Amino acid sequence: MPYRLEGKVALVTGASRGIGRAIALRLAQEGASVAVNHPGEAKEALEVVRLIRSRGGKAISMRADIAHKRQVERMVARVIERFGRIDILVNNAGICPFAEFLDITEETWDRTHDVNLRGVFLCSQAVARHMVERGIHGRIISISSVASYVGGIIQAHYCPAKAGVNLLMKSMATALGPHGITCNSVLPGTVLTDMNRAFLSDPDHRRQTIEHIPLGRLGEPDDVAGAVAFLASDDARYMSGAELVVDGGAFASFQ
Ligand code: NAD
Repeated sequence: MPYRLEGKVALVTGASRGIGRAIALRLAQEGASVAVNHPGEAKEALEVVRLIRSRGGKAISMRADIAHKRQVERMVARVIERFGRIDILVNNAGICPFAEFLDITEETWDRTHDVNLRGVFLCSQAVARHMVERGIHGRIISISSVASYVGGIIQAHYCPAKAGVNLLMKSMATALGPHGITCNSVLPGTVLTDMNRAFLSDPDHRRQTIEHIPLGRLGEPDDVAGAVAFLASDDARYMSGAELVVDGGAFASFQ
């Protein structure tokens, strides 16, 4: 397979584990140099960096809490210092502290929105400023969720934040299109990661979830990474403001 992202530099947020890790590995496999962001999981992030380097790729780890403007600005400046530029931003970092609606605290609401929506805005704006300044026809890809389309009984804080991500990306697609920058969302269904491992370890929950997936299995981080690699590639050059659903057909069957 040709290296579709040779010479490109990608920053992937929340890339120490789960879907972000798979995206970092996949973009590196496609030839990109990758900055592996993490909020304090240095050991796991370094493992990802080591793995990429052992396969002949280039990678660095970057600690930053994406909900903090100054940390985001410092991270973006350091990636540019190390790799010279940023061509691809993948807003992957996210949290989903499951809670019944009546139990959601103000703190949980705020933190969920700070990371999942404000963090996407902060990273996107910092990287887009660099892309516009340097005339880079970049790619900004955000990992939203099919939970942005439907309500969730234990996700009333998470769903609206992800719906906000979809509209933020559409707004950015409008604003940044004239600069040659594309902005798209990827909407995974249920992918087995640390985010939902406890929930899905209950055999009933797992069975009920799989029953609603026409392709008959849970998603894997690599399934999402493939969609991201496509959106980052030249094959997706005319796509912007799109919402790419990657859910084994589950959402189609909800309608
Ligand atoms: P995960 O918990 O395994 O990974 C989340 C990553 O984000 C971790 O590496 C974590 O350290 C990082 N992170 C959390 N807060 C951060 C912060 N403030 N700053 C920087 N990094 C931070 O979960 P995952 O399933 O891999 O989730 C990745 C993305 O996919 C999230 O945006 C999530 O909402 C989305 N998503 C997941 C699923 C699913 O079923 N797993 C479905 C739809 C969407």
